[in-house]
Amino acid sequence: MFAAYFDCPGGPENLYMKEVMKPNPGEGEVLVKVSASALNRADLLQRRGKYPPPKGASDILGLEAAGSVAGLGPGCSGRWQIGDAVMALLPGGGQAQYVTVHEGLLMPIPKDMTFIQAAAIPEAWLTAFQLLHFVGKVQEGERVLIHAGASGVGMAAIQLVRLAKAIPIVTAGTQEKLEATANAGAAAGFNYKNEDFSEKVLEFTQGSGVDIILDCVGASYWEKNLNCLRTDGRWIIYGLLSGGEVHGDLLSRLISKRASIHTSLLRSRDKEASSGYQQCMRFDLKIYDHFENFLLKPVLSTFFVRMSECLPEGCVPFTRRAVDTRVSERLAVTLQLFSPQHKQRLVRAFTEQALPHFCGGAAPRLRPVVDSVYPLHAIAEAHRAMEENRNIGKIAIEIPA
Ligand code: NAP
Repeated sequence: MFAAYFDCPGGPENLYMKEVMKPNPGEGEVLVKVSASALNRADLLQRRGKYPPPKGASDILGLEAAGSVAGLGPGCSGRWQIGDAVMALLPGGGQAQYVTVHEGLLMPIPKDMTFIQAAAIPEAWLTAFQLLHFVGKVQEGERVLIHAGASGVGMAAIQLVRLAKAIPIVTAGTQEKLEATANAGAAAGFNYKNEDFSEKVLEFTQGSGVDIILDCVGASYWEKNLNCLRTDGRWIIYGLLSGGEVHGDLLSRLISKRASIHTSLLRSRDKEASSGYQQCMRFDLKIYDHFENFLLKPVLSTFFVRMSECLPEGCVPFTRRAVDTRVSERLAVTLQLFSPQHKQRLVRAFTEQALPHFCGGAAPRLRPVVDSVYPLHAIAEAHRAMEENRNIGKIAIEIPA
């Protein structure tokens, strides 16, 4: 099969279409014949050698894909059938003619939607949904400031904020982008290049500021963010387009507002989760190593010390029964916090709560925003367009049949 590929990290000119082995679906996986994919900033970073795929993921570019089910691996639940139209959230591999994906990371393509439109959904919309509902816990009536409002994630976030009956306010770098965000539902928008967005936000909110900031810009915005975040507000950082190095008294400003900073990364999520689980299992064995003399020594990694705050420091006497009970309690806690199925939970929640709103009927109607479509062989051009901040919404990639 053909796939978007590069041999050495560098500029877009390093990209080409390479003939590679077609993947085989493993346990619980589905083989998808890809019709369309879409571009993400992560692809640009990966191409430059600054964002390697998580361990075990394909090194082919592409965090999302839309197409048809072409094969089922062993152990699939029967939820998907050959020929089903699906869209997939991927840790990589989407910009190719075939990709394998865990069946829990697939979503049905809403009725009347093209593969190109569907490919514009998984990464941007699931990111925005995660930021708003899993991290920020947005509430009706809250004001949400969305930076890079015309980005792929931004255009999704505006619509999801509206769906949550909250109020989206955006920043963007051109008038055209601000108009596009207004069409998507933004209540107000400010051009960060020629006005102080924090003053404008305070003016718009009559001095009270915003409850949540979705921030993919980072360093250059920190002071302005804290200027227009209301007391007890949530500042959610999910990208660092302007870098991560902060100069100034960030912590004093933060505490004076009793504000909280949250960070979020979707791509690496499940890998971390499963290693957390394995560490827990190893700890379980260690407890039994020390069981003989009824002592539990503090042989725990920093990770597990956090997980087992219920344990006193130092040596603790246990009866066998007590150890059993505590181990199983602790495993339950660990599984809950480090569930290896985080992405599946996210996909399920989005499928149930947001996807029906793409199909007409239910108001407000959600729509993926596709800026442009490039054939796979023009993948370098697509990268250039994103690198130059030209897109409003998503850049889609058409995959040859
Ligand atoms: P995109 O469509 O390429 O849009 C990014 C926009 O950000 C640009 O068009 C530009 O718009 C603005 N921008 C770029 N550099 C900037 C700077 N230095 N200061 C202010 N604005 C700047 O991006 P996307 O694919 O939606 O992704 C948006 C961000 O989310 C990226 O940082 C990406 O890495 C991040 N992301 C994070 C996750 C996660 O799980 N954490 C998942 C997906 C994406 P203007 O013309 O308006 O400046």
